[in-house]
Amino acid sequence: VISVQQLDKWFGKHHVLRKVNLDVLPGQKVVIVGPSGSGKSTLIRCINGLEAFQGGEITVNGQRLTQTRDLAAVRREVGMVFQGFHLFPHMTVLENVMLAPVKLRKLPQAQAQQRAQGLLERVGIAEQAHKHPAQLSGGQQQRVAIARALAMEPQVMLFDEPTSALDPEVVGEVLDVMRNLASGGMTMIVVTHEMGFAREVADRVVFMDRGELLEDLPPAEFLGHPAWKERRTSCGACC
Ligand code: ATP
Ligand code: MG
Repeated sequence: VISVQQLDKWFGKHHVLRKVNLDVLPGQKVVIVGPSGSGKSTLIRCINGLEAFQGGEITVNGQRLTQTRDLAAVRREVGMVFQGFHLFPHMTVLENVMLAPVKLRKLPQAQAQQRAQGLLERVGIAEQAHKHPAQLSGGQQQRVAIARALAMEPQVMLFDEPTSALDPEVVGEVLDVMRNLASGGMTMIVVTHEMGFAREVADRVVFMDRGELLEDLPPAEFLGHPAWKERRTSCGACC
């Protein structure tokens, strides 16, 4: 579904991605870990066409991303969930989930509403449909954000530290939704420090440091790796 080849990205003189290669096959779940500033967010933003890049190639669903292409077409295939939820505050939960299918896919209102309601059920918050985001807990808001991304029926879901901004007591409910999505066969790339999730769900754990992709291993091997313990100390966010 996704192929990243020899990806190079600079912010000015700062070389933030260095010859990164990453192939993700249909249905695979890849967890990306690494210290702060190692380029994890930048990599997944490149895959979603949110950042331009200077070298290499990215292919999403057979479509090559370049600066000149129609990025909207690619983004429709890729769902994205951020650390902050980025819901539209003036809209209800249901309207948030309906918006993109109506605007971008030209789905009729009634059909969009029915599907949105189904997705809210799937993430376990159907009864909150008519509330506004501010009336929900962080965990509930993040589940709405997941439902909203799913509403476009993406081929791939990208998550950038989806639980990092949450109170510890609601992290589990968001991870449960992600686990269900994974067992439903969704292709997923997840930046996270949740090693329990990685161990359970990931096919591969990818380790990045200073813009380089240094390791790409099955979770059992990765977590059993002696170097991992040392590296944990360099991960400022959780360890
Ligand atoms: P974290 O774990 O803190 O989220 P990360 O691995 O996601 O870190 P990135 O956000 O991808 O790291 O940042 C990689 C590097 O690029 C960092 O050195 C960062 O300062 C730099 N950077 C990120 N965004 C920009 C930007 N818009 N302009 C300039 N530099 C940037
Ligand atoms: Mg980041």
